[in-house]
Amino acid sequence: MESGIPVVSYARISADNRGDEHGVRDQHKVNRETAARLGWTVVAEFTDNDKSAAKADVYRDDFEAMLKVLKAGKLPDGRPVQGVVIVAEDRLARRPGDYERFVEAITYKDGRVYADARGSKDLYSEDTESMGLFGAVISKMEVRKMQRRMRRSHQARAEQGKPVGGPRPFGWLPDRLTLHPEEAPLLRKAALDFAGGRSLDSIVKEWRRHGVLTSRGNPWIRMTLRSALANPRLCGWRAIGGELVRDAKGEPIVGQWEPILTPEEWQAVMAVMNARKGHWVNRDGSVGSPIPTDQREHRYLLSGILRCGKPKPEGGICNKPLRCRPGKSGVGPHVYLCPGKSDGGCGGISRRGDKIDEFISEALLASLEEKELRRRKERPAAWAGEKELNAAKKRLDELSAQWDEDKISNELFFKLAPQLEKKIARLRAERDKHQASIERARVRAALDVEDLRRRWYIPEEEGGLPISTKRAYLREAFHAIIVRPAVRGRRDFDPDLLEPIWRED
Ligand SMILES: [Zn+2]
Repeated sequence: MESGIPVVSYARISADNRGDEHGVRDQHKVNRETAARLGWTVVAEFTDNDKSAAKADVYRDDFEAMLKVLKAGKLPDGRPVQGVVIVAEDRLARRPGDYERFVEAITYKDGRVYADARGSKDLYSEDTESMGLFGAVISKMEVRKMQRRMRRSHQARAEQGKPVGGPRPFGWLPDRLTLHPEEAPLLRKAALDFAGGRSLDSIVKEWRRHGVLTSRGNPWIRMTLRSALANPRLCGWRAIGGELVRDAKGEPIVGQWEPILTPEEWQAVMAVMNARKGHWVNRDGSVGSPIPTDQREHRYLLSGILRCGKPKPEGGICNKPLRCRPGKSGVGPHVYLCPGKSDGGCGGISRRGDKIDEFISEALLASLEEKELRRRKERPAAWAGEKELNAAKKRLDELSAQWDEDKISNELFFKLAPQLEKKIARLRAERDKHQASIERARVRAALDVEDLRRRWYIPEEEGGLPISTKRAYLREAFHAIIVRPAVRGRRDFDPDLLEPIWRED
């Protein structure tokens, strides 16, 4: 019984080298030893003797036969072949072009191995310099074709979904597979809260308050939480260089570790995160207009959301976002006011905060309740692009197969494939976005509007919503709220002076 990776041994006696039959046997012997050392098995030997025909146009029978075997990945009798062992690379080349043809043949399929007497060489290494002449040929050769194969090879490793090295990820035990009994639920709650609009700062504050530490024993900061939530590992997927690892069908590879979120939940997190890069998320998950970032923890519900509505002498309104001033000696109600002229405002508006907060909160909750009623009656629409995506995937598969079988030229393939790949990536992004928006709606609905109303008005320590979550709801509902100046003499709270600018959905 043969075991180990099946390889062929190649030997050559060059015309200018005073070798003999002995030399050939020696080369094969060295090759067998090299193979054995690497755990490979020599399944066939190929030998060329250039001494017998030194002319340049000599046809090297065994060399050509070996290239065929390598390209096919099997011997004529069907036994598989996955690589080549030679004594030294100068044994391969005789004519210009031999190296290229050899490299082309051996890299024709993924997972090929190659070694000389000094040891095995990584054909897919990007460090071609360490591979000497062989590497020089590889780098000179069709780079894109090689890169494509390399990419596939890296993919093959990642496709096994095996966890990689590095520090223990927060949420998992040191085996990196099993969920951590305390950390995993914390991380899950943080992710869902974040998807529901809670700010990173607010979560970090809570964790610090409870003494939660990172897997390296450090206090959490905004950035570490952000990267923990952005890690596709949360839902069992993995990424290389920021790109999700996908299988041949384009679906993300699922790892062997226990997930903390479903893929849909994680996509909802990412939809919020991507949209937070300075933009609003619309209800359908698309990115809306830029927002002023709510990075620091706001202490008041509506600062920055209210805007000054005092008319300017030259027409229009002041429109400066209102600031908030704490109540007098910490007991009176807070006050929203337009900053003074030196700060770009008009200083012409000043309003009791508690009444406005309550009025706007009620307006928001009523609108959410109404929307929730409507949503319960609707079913989410299916994504319209599924057919187009499948057609594009199929076309790319066909094209790749044709290219693999040399039925179409490199030129044509590299002209057509990138276009299709781009299209597939675009459609896939659209699909993910669509799914994320459905999931976002579900996560939001799960919070349940009734519960939302209850938690809106109780302090955070008693399970109430953090200000940042409430602000996220408000920002999603309103572009802004214009505060019109009061009519002189009237001191009552007059809701007609508040003009909410609702976002359409
Ligand atoms: Zn103003």
